[in-house]
Order: sequence, then structure tokens, then C-alpha cells
Amino acid sequence: HYNFCAGPAALPEPVLVRARDELLDYQGRGLSVMEMSHRSAEYVAIAEQAERDLRDLLAIPDDYRVLFTQGGASLQFAAAPYNLLGRGGSANFVHTGIWGKKAMAEARHLFGAAPVAASSEANGHTAVPRQADIALTDDAAYLHYTANETIGGLEFDYTPEAVRPDGTRVPLVCDMSSSILSGPLDVSRFGVIYAGAQKNIGPAGLTVVIVRDDLLDRARADMPTLLGYKTLAEGGSMVNTPATYSWYLAGLVFHWLKHDIGGLAAMEAINRRKAEKLYAAIDASDFYANPIAMANRSRMNVPFVLADDRLDKAFLAEAEEAGLLNLKGHRSVGGMRASLYNAVPEAAVDALVDFMGDFEKRRG
Ligand code: PLP
Repeated sequence: HYNFCAGPAALPEPVLVRARDELLDYQGRGLSVMEMSHRSAEYVAIAEQAERDLRDLLAIPDDYRVLFTQGGASLQFAAAPYNLLGRGGSANFVHTGIWGKKAMAEARHLFGAAPVAASSEANGHTAVPRQADIALTDDAAYLHYTANETIGGLEFDYTPEAVRPDGTRVPLVCDMSSSILSGPLDVSRFGVIYAGAQKNIGPAGLTVVIVRDDLLDRARADMPTLLGYKTLAEGGSMVNTPATYSWYLAGLVFHWLKHDIGGLAAMEAINRRKAEKLYAAIDASDFYANPIAMANRSRMNVPFVLADDRLDKAFLAEAEEAGLLNLKGHRSVGGMRASLYNAVPEAAVDALVDFMGDFEKRRG
């Protein structure tokens, strides 16, 4: 079976096998990682190794802190403005779809204003705004964008610059939930990166935040303690009980990326091949379609529709019979979506492309 779920998503098989082998008795310690105190030497070693491997993979500079927290990417929609608006100003947003809009709505809900610096609404979120179209407000404290819109399948092909009209550079805050670790990244371009774990990092329940040191002192005083980047950084992400098992599994995923795959450049090459194959199959047929501009087609989430949506149900049922799971599009948009995260092997895409060709032949 191949799992194309958008999240919680497939995990690499070697990671699951190792987790199974270590489930009852972690390396002869006589207990499961799930049963360990987060303060124990064994667990702290697991947690620290995970952070080291993530730092290696992304070449995270020394002046950035890595936080392992909870609440999902959705709680970061609140955490970012709480942490960065302590000196006033407003959070500016690039709106490219459903997730970016939710982030914006949360900032507006909490703090009243969340100016739109650029939006792809006019083109139906089929192409991201270009740099020249991004206009920050005079009071912008930071610029937020969503690197990859998981539902729309729209991905940035560049890293925006966040500059106010007066020329002042402000921090760039990025929701990377569905694209982090899909390839190399220049972390130094960002003030804050955050991601829910349940796509490319590990199981649900863990949220990773990467934040530049100099941004730890901009928090609002009225912030809930546990949302504080500084609090989490100073407490080693163990201010309260962390998602210990998810953190451990994330560590196994980082280890797999480093040692089995050979790093993020190698991972990116595989991801590019997978996405190109699937888009090529969609483009080669009048039976399948994807509306996104070539340059902004997501490598991780590939939405597509059938020319005749009355065949959607049959497509999904037959795909499932063929062992191709979770191809249903998001409930808000319908159609199909194949998520091709790191753990989805190239063979899965081959099987999907074969199935699509066969289905079209029979039903098209
Ligand atoms: N942002 C993006 C881009 C997502 O894809 C998702 C979930 O799918 C979220 C935010 C919300 O994440 P969470 O469920 O971890 O709050």
C-alpha cells in the first residue's frame, strides 16, 4: 500500500521498523521511550541528538534556536504575533490560500489588524505574488507567508524579501508545515520558521519552531507563558512535558534523512523526480487537470481534478482497491490530491501514474 495522505502522513518505513524494534525496550534500558521521564539522561540524549541532526540537515546557523513544542502550526498562528508584536506595529501577510488566511485571521482576531501585503486571490491562488507586488505597511513588524499551501498545491518558488516602504528590513516569518525538509533551505533568510510535524517531520503532536536569537525579546507581556519562544528556548523546550514520543520519532526521521537518504540535496532530487512524473502524467491527458502555474506547482501536494467529476467516487474506490490510499482532495475543494512527502517512495508515484493511465483508458 502507498499512503498519499496530506497529514498525518506516511512515515519512512525504516523509521517505523526501528520504532517497532525499540517499542518495548529502548536499547536494553528495560522501558519504552514513551515511558521515560523527559528529564532522564536517556531521554535528554534522544532529544539533543534529534536537534543536532535537524541542525545538520538544515545547516541551521548558531544564532538560531530550535524549539520542539506543541499545539500544531495553528497555535503558531497566535504565537508569532504574540512573540513579535511586543514593540508595536502590525503583522503583515502574504495571502496565498487557506492556511495563510487562517494565520492572518488569528492575528486579526487577537490584535485587530493584519494587513495584506500581497495576495493571489485575484488569480484564484494559482500563482504566488511576485516580489514587486509585496507591499508592506509603514508599521510592519514582520511579514508572514506560507511557503507551500497544502490544500491548494501552491508553492513559493522564491524566498520573499520583507522590507518596509522606508527601506527597513523586518523579520520574515514562514509557515513551512508542508514543505520543510523537502530540500535544502537558507535558514538565515528567515526570522521564524515553524512547522507542524505531521508531514515531513514525524507524527502529529509536535511542532518545530526555528527562531533567530535577536527576536526572543520582542514578545508582548500579556502572552501565555507556554507560547513564548524565549521561555521555550531557555527551558530547552522542556518548560512543561513535551511530546516526548513524537520528538523521538522525529529524531528517527532526521537520522533517516541524514544517513539513509544522504541529506536534503539528495532528498530534493528525489522529490523533484516524483513531482515531475505526476505532473507530466496530468498534463499529458485531457482527463486530468491541475490549474497551478508551472513555477508554483507544489512538489509536496499535487491536487488534480477529473474532467468528469461524476467519476471521482469510482476513481477513489478503485485507487484504494489498488492500494493507493488517501487520494481524496481536501473537503473544502474536492477533487483529488496526492501528497508526495519525503516518505512517499518513487515507486508510489509510478504506481499512481500507472493507475491513472489505466483508469482513463477504462473510463475516459
Ligand atoms: N499550515 C499548513 C501549511 C498546513 O498544511 C497545516 C495542516 O495541514 C497547518 C498549518 C495546520 O497545522 P496543525 O494541524 O499542525 O495546526
